[in-house]
Parts: sequence; structure tokens; C-alpha cells
Amino acid sequence: MEFVEQLKSQVDIVKTIGEYVRLKRLGSTGRYVGLCPFHQEKTPSFSVNQSRQWYHCFGCGVGGDVLKFVMEIDGLTFFEALKLLAERHGIPMPKRAGFSDEQSKLRGALYDIHLIAANLFQASLRAPQGAEARAYLAKRGVSAEMIETFALGYAEPSGQSLVRRLAQERFSPVDLDASGLVRKRDDGSRYDSFRGRLMFPIHDESGKVIAFGGRGMREEDQPKYLNSPETPIYRKTSVLYNLNRAKNGMRSSGRAVLVEGYMDVIGVYAAGIKEVVASCGTAFTEPQARKLHLHCDTVVINFDPDAAGADAAETKVIPRLLDEGLHVRVLALNGGLDPDEYVKQNGAEVYRVHLDSAAGYFHWLADRARARFDMRSAEGRMDAFKKVLMPAVEKLSDKLERAAVASDLADYLGVDRGVVLDQFKRAAADRRTPAPAAAPTGPAVPPLERMLLNALLASRVAREEILPGLSGAWIEDFVARDIFEALRAVSNATSGAAADSAADSDPNTGDAIAFRALEERLAPASQSLLRQIASADELTDGEVALEQARNCLHRMETGQRKRYLAALKAKVIAAQRNGQADEARSLALELMRAENAAAESTGASGGRISGNRA
Ligand SMILES: [Zn+2]
Repeated sequence: MEFVEQLKSQVDIVKTIGEYVRLKRLGSTGRYVGLCPFHQEKTPSFSVNQSRQWYHCFGCGVGGDVLKFVMEIDGLTFFEALKLLAERHGIPMPKRAGFSDEQSKLRGALYDIHLIAANLFQASLRAPQGAEARAYLAKRGVSAEMIETFALGYAEPSGQSLVRRLAQERFSPVDLDASGLVRKRDDGSRYDSFRGRLMFPIHDESGKVIAFGGRGMREEDQPKYLNSPETPIYRKTSVLYNLNRAKNGMRSSGRAVLVEGYMDVIGVYAAGIKEVVASCGTAFTEPQARKLHLHCDTVVINFDPDAAGADAAETKVIPRLLDEGLHVRVLALNGGLDPDEYVKQNGAEVYRVHLDSAAGYFHWLADRARARFDMRSAEGRMDAFKKVLMPAVEKLSDKLERAAVASDLADYLGVDRGVVLDQFKRAAADRRTPAPAAAPTGPAVPPLERMLLNALLASRVAREEILPGLSGAWIEDFVARDIFEALRAVSNATSGAAADSAADSDPNTGDAIAFRALEERLAPASQSLLRQIASADELTDGEVALEQARNCLHRMETGQRKRYLAALKAKVIAAQRNGQADEARSLALELMRAENAAAESTGASGGRISGNRA
């Protein structure tokens, strides 16, 4: 597949993954680390290797090239990932039907349908029939600029405009029904799902329209908000409204502002706070928390001040954010206003000041507890502490922080500090259940073996000199034996003139092995091991690789010889002790010969493997 290789050579894996994950560069090694987007973690074990153009997670073992990453993170097929990357980089795709499959075709059609729908809704909002919706937006203080930015639209009440438009485009009935944007009557006729509603397109992280939220504008429009159902391109639980526009702001400010509704997002965004998102049409979920964490470390919750909003914040949102290891602040606006209304009434500046000084969630929780329990009695205060605050405090992973917060809160609520700390000790004892399962690391590869492998990966000359001698008994005990053997097979297959075209050419190492070919020969466990080895070590420079390989080999050989001599010596002593004079003599002779041989080869710069193994 030439095109795949061409695409990969033009796409930078660090840049692509960097769109989804905050990556930090490690020195000048061409390696980057970040939080793994595929498993929950608080410290980074996800590594991206720029020179080798691949990624690997030491926590959960995932890894691969840039295509694999895009497939996994966006839930795409191989073809779709190829298409997405080609589009993003302006690389024309070869028109080959063989690339496509049913699933990709369906999803491709759904993206098209959503784009057509978004354009149609936008046009309707501007047209005469959109007058009521425009008036509604004006009343809510949404500027023309925000209408444009958020691509707001209007779905006509007739229930026929989208259906008709899609019919012109000749989408198949299967595509139409899968889109969630049209419905089918018993008689087989179809009509629009959204009718007479203000339309909010929901985008995925890359900015494609994948769903809609529709807001009713009159009292009788029920429900007030109607959302797209789940479809092959829309998984509600992992989407955040406005993330496509917010992520850059989240990275530069280090925080996300989490609000409840579409209008809140627009209101806060209009106030110049671009790092604002909302979960759309679902309770806040774990995948959403993880998405936030990939772009920032602090989340400011600014929900509606009503009971439902506060309950959701306390019971669903705060615990999920804490579990994800995020810092949590709560902005409680006075006057019973939601964020959008607050910005309108008090202005962007005032809102911003409150936002910047939003307190940690503990005091907000404490205030809620105070309102709910009888704070005049000691039991009431203790209950408030145990039921509302304990669960949150316990989520703090840092012991000292936990103790500090607990005693601070005890003072705040008027509970005896000693009693509080006692409670914590007890809870901690209960929690002393098995530690979280260790990462699936597999057997550790000895340093010399690792260095040798890295050198061989980097240099063809090293492979040609070293690999033929690395066989049989010599590599029997290697932890990464499968990899060495695969390496030999690939190396043989591509040796000679063919090597130049087959190699995954890298400007620095020139003769680096073609990883894809190597991986194809390995079982998943060994693939993972290979990526682990290659990601963990400093990249070996092609120039010094041969030297490094020879040194490793020499040191391994020396180590082996030492072990062999020691074992032989032990045998001589045992034979003498047991009175086996003949046996002892012949062993001693063998030992002498071996020692002489060792002395001869010492100083040689690591020749071919020779001799016996203990
Ligand atoms: Zn992971």
C-alpha cells in the first residue's frame, strides 16, 4: 500500500496526537509523554516517539502508528482514518474503491447528511421563515457573530424541508434512517425529526458536525431541548459541546469551564472565555472527564443554581472529575442566575473576575451540607461532614492534602478535629484493599539485551554483522528472543539492494528497520514489548549503532563466560570434596583451557560468539 506509506511520511505523529493529548517533550530525544487517552491515569505513561513515528502506553500496552491512533481514538475504520488524515493534510486520496467498506460508507454518508442539514438550518435561520428564531436569539442577546461562530440554525416546522433536501441528494433509505435526523411513518413516508426548533450543531473534536441539539422556542414545545439520538457517528457519552473550539483555550489557560447548556456555552464564550464546554443531553460521564483532562488540569464547574444543577454537580460531576485526578473549583453565582443570564446582567468583566476567583469545591460542598443538616447539634454537624464531605475528601490522593483539607473543613463546620481525623483513619483502614492492578509490563528485559536490540533496529550494518552469530543457544535465554528472531527474518528478507527502498527511511538513522514489517511477524505481546523497548531508550544513532552492538555483545559474552567459569569451578570443588579424583582432574583441565581462552579474547572488541554455555 504505497499511499499509506506516503501519507505516513507526510504526517507528523506528534502533531496529530498532540491534537488530542497534551504532550511534553523529553529533552532532545524526540520522545514525548502525556496522559494516555485510552486508560484512566493521573501520571503520564503514554509515550510518542517522533523519529520512529509511533506511540506506546506503558500503562495499558496500546501502541502503533499514527493511523492506528486515529482509528482507536476516533473509533474509525482504517479507511476512514486514512481519509481523515489525508483531508487534514491536503493529501489527495487515490480513488480506489477497494479502500472502502460498508461501515465507512455509512459513516461517510452520515457526515455528509449532517453537513447538508447544518447548512440548510443555517440558511433557514437567515430566510424569512427564520424570523421568530432570530427574534428569540435577539431577545437572549446572542450576537450575529456568535450565531455565525456556533453555526446556529433553524429547523422549519413543516417537517419536510430536510427530507426533501436529502431526497435531492439521493441518499439511501438506510443512510437516512441511521442519521437520526429523519423519521419514518408506518406508511413508509419520512419527515424531519427536528421541527420548529432553534438548532445547535454539535461537532466532534475535529470540527465535523455529528449531531444536533434543538431548542423549542415556545412554552408548548416539549421537550424544551431535543437531542439527536446516538448514531454510528455520535456517541453521546464521550462528546462535549464546543470542545472543538474550546481545546486551544483550555491548553493556554490550563482550565476548562463546565456549564450545563448550549446557551450557557455561547454566553460565556461571548464573554471572551473560550475554554467553555457542556455535556450535551447526558449526565456527565467518565469519558468526558478524561477528554477534559487531556487538555487541562483544572475544571471550574458553573452550573445552574437550581437544585437539579447543584445535585448533579455534587453527586455526579465532582466525583468523576476527582476520580480523573483533576483539580475542581466551583463557581456559584449570586442572584440565582445561570451563567448566560449572569454575563448578560453583570457583564463579561464581572463574570471573569468571579470565575478567576472561584473557590475549591470543598467550601461549596460545606455550604450545601450546612443548608441540609441541623448545624446546631453536634450530630447534625457530624452527619454533614460524614455524608457530604467525607466522600469527596477521600478522593484526594495526597495524604497531606487530605489531612489539611479535613481539618480545615472540621473548623468550617464546627466539628471536632480529633473526631474527624479519627473518621479518616478508620476509612483509610477500610480502604486498604488490594492496590490497583499493576500495569501489564511483562518480563523485564535486561539492559544489555535492550541496548543490543536498539542498536540492531537502528543500523543495517550492525544487523548484517551481528545477527548471523546470534542464534541457537546464544539467544535461548533472551527475554526478547522472538523479536531478535523476527528481526533476523526481516533483515534477511530485505538485505541487499532492496533494503534501501523497503526501510522505513529516517533521515537520522538511514538504515532503520521497517517497523511495520517487523511488527507483522510478532505476536501482540511481543509487539508491545518491542514498542516498550524502542520507546523507553534513547534513540541509537545509526553511526554509533554498530559500535554499541559490538560492545553489548562483548559484555554479554564476558558475563556469560564468567558465569560459565564460576560454574565449572564449583564443579571442580564439588568433585574434589566427593573424592572423585579423576572427575576433578578432567574438570580442572577444562577449567584451565576455558580460562586461557577467556584471557586470549579479553580486549578483543567483542568478536563472534564462541564456545560453550554453562
Ligand atoms: Zn494507556
